[in-house]
Amino acid sequence: MKRREIPGVKRKLAVLAVVAVIAFLGAKEFMELRNFKEPVVVSEAFTEKVMLSDYFEGIKGTGVDTPVYLFDSGVPGGTLVFLGGTHPYEPATMLAAYVAMENISVSKGRVFIIPHANLSASKVGMLGNAYPKFLHVQTEHGPRAYRIGDRSTDPLDQWPDPFTYVHYPSKQNLAYTDARNLNRTYPGRPDGNLTEQLAYAIMELIRKEKADLYCDTHEASLMYPVVSTYVAHDRALDVAMMAAMELSATTFPMKCEASPKSLRGLSHREVGDFSPVPEQGYEGVLAVLMETMEPFIDRVAGKITEELMMEGKDEFLQTASEHGLLYCVPEYDIEFGSPMKYRVGRHLSSIAELIRQMNDFFPEKEIQLQWPEFDGLMENGIGYYLHDPTKAHSTRVFWN
Ligand SMILES: [Zn+2]
Repeated sequence: MKRREIPGVKRKLAVLAVVAVIAFLGAKEFMELRNFKEPVVVSEAFTEKVMLSDYFEGIKGTGVDTPVYLFDSGVPGGTLVFLGGTHPYEPATMLAAYVAMENISVSKGRVFIIPHANLSASKVGMLGNAYPKFLHVQTEHGPRAYRIGDRSTDPLDQWPDPFTYVHYPSKQNLAYTDARNLNRTYPGRPDGNLTEQLAYAIMELIRKEKADLYCDTHEASLMYPVVSTYVAHDRALDVAMMAAMELSATTFPMKCEASPKSLRGLSHREVGDFSPVPEQGYEGVLAVLMETMEPFIDRVAGKITEELMMEGKDEFLQTASEHGLLYCVPEYDIEFGSPMKYRVGRHLSSIAELIRQMNDFFPEKEIQLQWPEFDGLMENGIGYYLHDPTKAHSTRVFWN
């Protein structure tokens, strides 16, 4: 007797098999990004590596705990805290941190560098956006790969999202996704969600080390008004204004804006407001955020490829530029695009110029350091400044 067939069972099994294959391939790609490590060969100025959880234990063992690298001259002076990777899908910030770490020399004061401020967000791609997982920098010892992450903390580390994110302590209502956005969760709190705890840990580092200058590096879409701009907290405004004028006169055009008082959760506002510890005689940090232009994250850009990330040439942005829709300075030109070395160079010179101005305004906070700046990056490219981890002494090679 012939076996009775359940209708459609073959088709259902076939669909199930296809779903299993897709899930397997998706998981493989997902794990590749999550487990990938980037090398950094720190310069001879390197003092020690600590973890951010050394400043706030609450994040120890979580996905947001992240390495902090200290370069201490041993000569009393000011203290810089330099953040790359607040939003990992703005990777010129992480690369600027790495170029600084591999080449820095410090003769006065101390420098804390956090290349992946939101390490969790650097290990996951942006949901719903099909884009490459890695970018590659060409060096003399071959190409080096770096992760292109997301904007927000990995949902595997912090879930579920609320319907509305109520910012602490202002109670301002923000978008639900901002509950995982490091640059909306400052000043954070020790018993808040994981991203709020991360923000709190960064605040603790600033307060415990009595930092003088805090630089939070970002990249922006060209249609975003604060692209090519410093955004400075009230106390940092004179320094940032002078730095913008000096850079614009000598190196590249740079805008400057005052941190708005009504937008809450942002680093330039909250880090400035919540860093002072008057009972310990600490007046707080000069807080500045800065943005370079990143065509890769513009909504109007065409195909989202690694080439767009590295070169920034896009015909739709060119059209937008011709219609006066972009805010970047200088004006966008597809012949030049917005190459990665240009963006990394801008960040490194933008921070160095803030330091020079701070040294003039506040001699007691003086920092003397050197790292590659804009002209060097434009002439030599990024790879020139990255050292071969296989040839360096093991005490100077770290993996993030
Ligand atoms: Zn950003």
